[in-house]
Parts: sequence; structure tokens; C-alpha cells
Amino acid sequence: MVEGINERAQSMTTCIFCQIVEGTAPSSKVYEDEVCLAFMDIQPVNPGHVLVIPKVHSNDLSDLPPQIGAHLFQVAQRIALSLPATDLKNEGIDLFLAHGAAAGQDVFHVHLHMIPRYKGDGFGFTFGPNYENLPERTELDANAVQIKQGLSN
Ligand code: 5GP
Ligand code: ZN
Repeated sequence: MVEGINERAQSMTTCIFCQIVEGTAPSSKVYEDEVCLAFMDIQPVNPGHVLVIPKVHSNDLSDLPPQIGAHLFQVAQRIALSLPATDLKNEGIDLFLAHGAAAGQDVFHVHLHMIPRYKGDGFGFTFGPNYENLPERTELDANAVQIKQGLSN
């Protein structure tokens, strides 16, 4: 269902990231333009953990205008490339976006995590028990067909 104006206004007043955009909640800003804001995560995985968000509220990828998504990535790329010039420990960086609660999304205002990484930082994905068993090519092909069909709908 398409979100109505009243529902969107409601989510904006209660959404912590909208409050950060409005300046009614505090944040440590890294970058700002007309479309997006980047600020330090309040509970960083590693020092220098940044969140890049659209200024206009979107719950997740399903209601994020694609051109805004592209802009978020461009800004994240700039920030990522600027990190080596800082004193923050960063041998690499993970970009991560959780779409949906099952994927680990806690704040339902789209945000792109930028997590500086270094050897031995203790962070990482946990893999399921079947991860080591590579699927047959037929299974990969069948999954690809399903996703391709979804794209053409
Ligand atoms: P998610 O789990 O939805 O992918 O990530 C939400 C992120 O938002 C978490 O890393 C969490 O620490 C961060 N976060 C939650 N509330 C606040 C806040 O009030 N300020 C800031 N700067 N980050 C927040
Ligand atoms: Zn919001």
C-alpha cells in the first residue's frame, strides 16, 4: 500500500533520523547537502562508523527514490576514499544497508553503514551451517532465472 501523507508525517515526527535531519536530536555530522546527511553512528562497530541517510524519510529500499539511493552511494564513496587521510584505523571499509527487520534493520529510515575495518577488529558476518557446501550450478542457474524474472516484472 502506498504510504499516505499523514502516515509519512507521523513517521517523520517519531523517526530518530528525521529528528537528526531536523536538528531536534543531536548528531556528529560528517557531510551534508540538499539530499543527504552523513553522521557518526551512536554505537560504532569500530571508530569512524558513519551512517549516510536521505534527508527525506524513506522506510527502506522499497520507497527510496533510486536517484537518491545513487546519491547516497556517491557520498559514501567520497567519504570512504577520504578515510585513509584520517587517524582512524582503517585497512578497509564495509558498506552495509539492512533492508527489513530480518536483515537486521532496526531504524526504519534508510541508512547506509560505513564501517572502517582492520585485521583483528572482531567484526564479521556469521555464516549458516550450510555455507561450506557450494550449491550445484543448476541451483545457481534456477535462482538466477527467478531473480531475472522478477526484474522484468
Ligand atoms: P540498523 O540496525 O537499522 O542497520 O542500524 C541502525 C544504526 O543506527 C545502529 O548502528 C545504531 O547504533 C544507530 N543509531 C540508532 N539510534 C541512533 C541515534 O540516535 N543517533 C545515531 N547517531 N545513531 C543511532
Ligand atoms: Zn525518518
